[in-house]
Amino acid sequence: MLIETTQGNIEFTIPKHYKNIGYKVSGGADSAIVGWMLCKTIVEECNSEPVVYPITMDQPGKAYQVKFAKGVVAFLKLHWPTVTFSEHITGVGSEPITVVDPHMGDEGKANPNYNDDQRIITQRLLDQLKVRCIFNGVTANPSEFVGQDERHQQVSMPPERNRTGTPLPIQYSQDPHEHPDFNGPGNVYSPLINIDKKGVKELYEYFGVLDSMFPLTRSCENWTDDFSSHCGVCWFCLERLWGFGRIE
Ligand SMILES: [Zn+2]
Repeated sequence: MLIETTQGNIEFTIPKHYKNIGYKVSGGADSAIVGWMLCKTIVEECNSEPVVYPITMDQPGKAYQVKFAKGVVAFLKLHWPTVTFSEHITGVGSEPITVVDPHMGDEGKANPNYNDDQRIITQRLLDQLKVRCIFNGVTANPSEFVGQDERHQQVSMPPERNRTGTPLPIQYSQDPHEHPDFNGPGNVYSPLINIDKKGVKELYEYFGVLDSMFPLTRSCENWTDDFSSHCGVCWFCLERLWGFGRIE
């Protein structure tokens, strides 16, 4: 599937030998649209054969991820009934953040335990040969200033979200189980790595899911247990507003 956006083309394909596909779904807008493209490609180009393994890690202190990711997966199942989903693989980061600086909206992502725990889960799936490739919703950082202040901006725009000239698949992970079809290690796909939130909005419009799937997603990274609305002031809320022109 080839999708043209004003930020460049997205070539979304699933190599034939991938029959079990990991899908990192956070409950946010980016990974949700990747799920839509994944299901559409599985149905239209893969005869609905590959099985999707949804993978979600809750972050203690703002554990919205599993709740919203399950909503996204339910939406995908409803619209793509021939796609087979495995049980939802979930986990909880082991160390909650106790000190929160409101100017550092994404401080929690710096929690090494959260990322390490996530890595352990996905590595286990790879080791057990349950999945052979993983799709994620990593997008490009915004092309212009978004945020309350410079510090707010800096800590929230991780370098791994910078655009790259490397052709897809962008990200690679070491695959301990070499397979002749894999052409070496290389099984983590970030199809949106060169598309920022404004480009993600284009994709929602292109697929006609702006009013249906977008409201099911949550981008807010505020530390709270109340997920009834977005906070509207954390960096991720501001990025969502910048990209979509609306938050809810
Ligand atoms: Zn927020």
